[in-house]
Amino acid sequence: MKNIPEKRSESGGLRGPAARDDDECADAERETLMMELARLVQESVRASSWWERRGVDCTILTAAFVSLPAGFVLLGSSQMMCFLLGLLMMGVAHAVITVKGTHLASHGALSESPAWAHFWAVFFIEVCGSFSARAGVQAHVKMHHAHTNVIGLGDSSTWKMPFLPRSVYLFIAPLAVPIITPLVAVGQLKGQSPLQIMRTVVCVCVGFFSQYYLLRCVSGLSCSSALLVMLLCRAMFSLPYIHVNIFQHIGLPMFSAASRPKRIYQMTHGVLNLPRNPALDWTFGHSLISCHVEHHLFPFLSDNMCLKVKPIVSQFLKEKKLPYQEDGYVSRLRLFFHKYQELMVFAPPITDLVGVQ
Ligand SMILES: [Zn+2]
Repeated sequence: MKNIPEKRSESGGLRGPAARDDDECADAERETLMMELARLVQESVRASSWWERRGVDCTILTAAFVSLPAGFVLLGSSQMMCFLLGLLMMGVAHAVITVKGTHLASHGALSESPAWAHFWAVFFIEVCGSFSARAGVQAHVKMHHAHTNVIGLGDSSTWKMPFLPRSVYLFIAPLAVPIITPLVAVGQLKGQSPLQIMRTVVCVCVGFFSQYYLLRCVSGLSCSSALLVMLLCRAMFSLPYIHVNIFQHIGLPMFSAASRPKRIYQMTHGVLNLPRNPALDWTFGHSLISCHVEHHLFPFLSDNMCLKVKPIVSQFLKEKKLPYQEDGYVSRLRLFFHKYQELMVFAPPITDLVGVQ
């Protein structure tokens, strides 16, 4: 079977009706491949303990919360080194809670009970992440995951800001993420019920003002210092946050909604893994760094389970001659810097998987 991605413009097509029979056979085969892989992954999940399935990630999130009191105390120190250590601790804890925590919570990966999964989604996304849980789940799970790299649906275009020059977009604008996030959240409240709007506003305010209050009362900071510390902590990982979000999808094959490929094809062509990185593995989680392919294939798995099934998935895809895309962080950054116009400004070409789709 051929596996040749070809690119065409939005208006052009490469295949005629003669390929339809082949397509149906190929579709059936792709369906079987996905089921075969899902069975292998399910076996691994069933053979795993609670600690492996959820315990490791819940412990990392708990550790982030447990480190907060020490962070507040250190931020009140007059010693520069202690103050900087406090800032680092709070910045790392904030990233763990608001990136890893909100991501796992948005997928309902923190609990098997739907009620608890909903509670954690509201807690992490709204109280800790200053965003609307409903809008976050809709944008990430229902659009980005369901329609990965499908133009007009899950094409990562929300991350594009073509009016910004590349250096500003890649190295300066991300620092404004903590300010932009709640503003975008306000825009996302449109169309939600009054009760949901009230819940989101109350939760975001509780999260914001409790950090502010503790910085004033426990750390003893002035009003402006407390706000500055909050901005520094919240912006500490915003550069890699934006980078990771664009590196793993943009520049890879894009599909049209009218002729989208089978799921296993969509995910193996449209998703890329970055190498393991101790800082980002802990703060963002494996599913956003070295196991993004696994995460898109099996979004219900926790970070630790994604890491556990990674050898199964990579070996399976390689055996079946499907892509398993990997690239380094610096290599990706270099690509986006040099091809900024092509990747982040112009509309991406659509990829047809000739011989398969
Ligand atoms: Zn996800």
